[in-house]
Amino acid sequence: MKEGSSVRIDVLTIFPGMFDGFLDESIIKRAQERGLIQIFLHDIRQYAQDKHGTVDDYPFGGGPGMIFKPEPVFRAVEAVQSQASPGLVVLLTPQGEHYEQRIAKSLAVGKRLLFICGRYKGLDDRIRTIADREISIGDYVLTGGELPAMVVIDSMVRLIPGVLGDEESAWNDSFFQGILDAPQFTRPRVFRDLSVPEVLLSGDHEQIRIWRKKEALRKTLQRRPDLLENISLKKEDKRLIAQIKKENRGIE
Ligand code: SAM
Repeated sequence: MKEGSSVRIDVLTIFPGMFDGFLDESIIKRAQERGLIQIFLHDIRQYAQDKHGTVDDYPFGGGPGMIFKPEPVFRAVEAVQSQASPGLVVLLTPQGEHYEQRIAKSLAVGKRLLFICGRYKGLDDRIRTIADREISIGDYVLTGGELPAMVVIDSMVRLIPGVLGDEESAWNDSFFQGILDAPQFTRPRVFRDLSVPEVLLSGDHEQIRIWRKKEALRKTLQRRPDLLENISLKKEDKRLIAQIKKENRGIE
């Protein structure tokens, strides 16, 4: 495949096998088959300087745990970057920038990305100098950067044009437009006395659009009001929010 025709993603890890199911199923698999993305896994151990593939060592100053050595990671990054035009180097770390849809969107417009998955007690801090961006997927500590890399790759790949079909479009997903998604329903119309909202069965596309917008705003107001502070609300949004607040006053 020609360089430039697809998004190239390189992942540096000591556990490439962890990516097997992730790369071989569903949308990520299809995106590779259709040439929209190429994902290359690189075992950092192959860049170790001894025959045992040692990539960790004791921390200077003492203390528990082992630390990822800088040399194999630098060598791996340099080797991968020399194979094709250099990509944005992303280090997965709980100390990084909080990952959110806004960052997924910005990564999805790039043509080359390289992810470094840490392990052990952490990475030698000098490895940070080789990263363009440090990303955390949340305020908790995982055993390695592989799951965070998969989270980031999955969420950005689905935003690359052509990866999702119309029926799966990301446009209405939570966070895409800054608010949560509206409630969704499918058949049957009535399930254990729980009915689908009538408007969704009406066939009136404009009423359905307004209902969805209103319910998305209602959910966001209830669950994530902080999101509304970061978006510019349209006239219609403001009108719907006023209606929701009025309805809420009615039931209080
Ligand atoms: N001692 C380190 C600290 O407190 O910052 C945590 C090391 S963690 C056990 C090992 C590796 O898992 C990290 O180097 C990082 O690559 C990855 N990792 C763990 N939690 C993460 C998170 N929330 N987001 C991104 N990467 C994470």
